[in-house]
Amino acid sequence: LSQSVFLGINRSDYMFDGGAAGAPALKQIEINTIAASFGGLASRTAAVHGRVLKVLGMSEEASRLLPNNPSEGLALGIARAWELYGSRSAVVMFLVEEVQRNIFDQRCVENELWNRNIRVIRKRFRDVFEKGSLDGTRRLYVDGQEVAVVYYREGYVPKNYDQQNWEARLLLERSRAVKCPDIATQLAGTKKVQQELSRPGTLEELLPGRAEAVARIRATFAGLYSLDVGEEGDQIAATALANPDRFVLKPQREGGGNNLYGEELRQVLKKIKDSPERTSYILMDKIQPQPATNYLLRAHTPLKASECISELGIFGVYVRQGKELVMNEAAGHLLRTKAVEHADGGVVTGVAVLDTPYLV
Ligand code: ADP
Ligand code: MG
Repeated sequence: LSQSVFLGINRSDYMFDGGAAGAPALKQIEINTIAASFGGLASRTAAVHGRVLKVLGMSEEASRLLPNNPSEGLALGIARAWELYGSRSAVVMFLVEEVQRNIFDQRCVENELWNRNIRVIRKRFRDVFEKGSLDGTRRLYVDGQEVAVVYYREGYVPKNYDQQNWEARLLLERSRAVKCPDIATQLAGTKKVQQELSRPGTLEELLPGRAEAVARIRATFAGLYSLDVGEEGDQIAATALANPDRFVLKPQREGGGNNLYGEELRQVLKKIKDSPERTSYILMDKIQPQPATNYLLRAHTPLKASECISELGIFGVYVRQGKELVMNEAAGHLLRTKAVEHADGGVVTGVAVLDTPYLV
């Protein structure tokens, strides 16, 4: 590794579990360590909802919307990493998709960087493959510009990688640029790692002497189960086959729409339960949030009241230099709301909409 500075932009997602097994509580759905999105647009939703309430003559209610500005918090992390890289002429590179579906979300963060006199370029894997190179000290140049920070908004699904893109990824990974995230951090965000972290003893090992912190973190975990080959895996597979509605079957994927529920979970698990293929999934207890009536506003769709559930994401930004933690901040939130009949899926898959927490 030629860079000792690490930048993490994470989003930890929670649902408010109705508490069939105890008191209602926020339970973690997953943590995103690559391309955690909607910090930009979430910085603007409170203003939209505030205006709507005011138009309706509800300015008292408008004042209870939770203010939020992840764009700035995310940009402050990127700016800190850029400073530590230590070259005023070097740029921040947003690594973006071939088809740019979420560009406006990214622009909000980009603007915050330009406002701080940090130059931003937007490039695809293909551009890095064609125009990227390392010099003798592994400084990264793309299209003639030195890159201080690579911020991935791409590269989290297998179809992002053909042979050329793998080579581009390797070039970035080997370079001296600060990667957000580096490959290890990306892998730490997999469902498998989430499940391993929930094993008794693991948090204790990572946070020695901090029993209270361990207890607070553990309280946010839903049940997570390994499907590794062996007795433990056999047992939980049998339980899930008998009660598919209690669980979610999750592959190592990001981006929504990959998890399996109910009858589909049963079918797939039945097929793979005696093969090592089952180890590519984990099982998770299904969280049961209390539905609330709400309106989902979408283009070309009539407005109607529907039963909805919400998912709260908390942005976290950290910068580490070697073993020293330089920055570690909560940077705001994202609330996504969807109709109860959709088991899976977020905003990009067209299921959820951006929402704003209302404090009561
Ligand atoms: P992805 O990486 O695809 O976003 P998630 O773990 O966030 O994977 O799951 C996608 C969606 O599925 C979530 O946004 C949530 O709506 C739903 N979901 C995931 N896990 C659970 C669970 N344990 N209980 C209830 N719903 C879940
Ligand atoms: Mg998710």
